[in-house]
Amino acid sequence: MVLFPASPTPIVYLTTLNGKAIYLKQDYLNHPAVSGNKLRKLKYTLQIAQENQATLISFGGAYSNHIAALAAAGNILGISTVGIIRGQELADTSRWSNTLKKAADNRMQLHFISRETYREKQLTHAAIKAIIDHYANAKIIPEGGSDRLSLIGSAEIIDECIAQHPADGFDVLFAACGTGGTLAGLIDGVARQTSSHYRLVGISVLKGHLGLSENIRSLSRSHMLVDWSINQDYHFGGYAKTSPMLQAFMADFESNYKIPLDPIYTAKLCYAVFDLANNSPNKQPENWLIYHSGGLQGAK
Ligand SMILES: *Cc1c(COP(=O)(O)O)cnc(C)c1O
Repeated sequence: MVLFPASPTPIVYLTTLNGKAIYLKQDYLNHPAVSGNKLRKLKYTLQIAQENQATLISFGGAYSNHIAALAAAGNILGISTVGIIRGQELADTSRWSNTLKKAADNRMQLHFISRETYREKQLTHAAIKAIIDHYANAKIIPEGGSDRLSLIGSAEIIDECIAQHPADGFDVLFAACGTGGTLAGLIDGVARQTSSHYRLVGISVLKGHLGLSENIRSLSRSHMLVDWSINQDYHFGGYAKTSPMLQAFMADFESNYKIPLDPIYTAKLCYAVFDLANNSPNKQPENWLIYHSGGLQGAK
């Protein structure tokens, strides 16, 4: 199986609202098992690990898209992977999510630690250090995969979008934000373009995540050079929270456009973009692009 397809994922036109032509980049199609932004973020870490025969160790919860992507990619490329998972009760395999079952099938070695230990700063805690020390030539990837190397992979999304432009270009690119690592990479990708300058808008899926902008500034070296902002109005009560309105939007969207959404990230993202277009104060024509970052593995 080829992990990094040479051809770009498609961009499709959805609709026009208040003069805003809305397009969507189907990055969930970039790989059947390792889909969306998590593959983009892991790309260079995987290449280096393969060259050095390193073991990749990372962190996540029972439903983590990052853990799912790391396990699947490691299995395909022959890289050993280790997942340090939040929740000691999950040592009981009868309580495993589909994500954990699939990660184990993909030969990821799983370790379960208490929520208290998980909350501690992960590399200094004795229990975590003991797990890591067990592996020779280990490379640690932070939760969600948001390290500097991940930005290089995410920046390539912009190169693809520029090559796929409609004739008059895109004006705004919207992406869902958890840690903000993906948006930081998109910022770097826009900064190095000479011909196009998108505005970037991150939709936070966490409630009151005040450290998000700071995290992006600390990751992206070019955050001063690009017009970007974070919108905190569409978290629907917080991470993994939902509402009947969001559920109804998701069902309508999927049946109208035949594009699957995940409830945690991309449903909130698409809701936000449609709502912002509907409530736009002017009818000035613009091209808006939604970055569909995947996240569909948890739903299956
Ligand atoms: C992890 C994830 C995000 C958030 O990415 P960050 O880089 O942490 O901001 C967005 N969408 C999907 C589908 C994800 O799995």
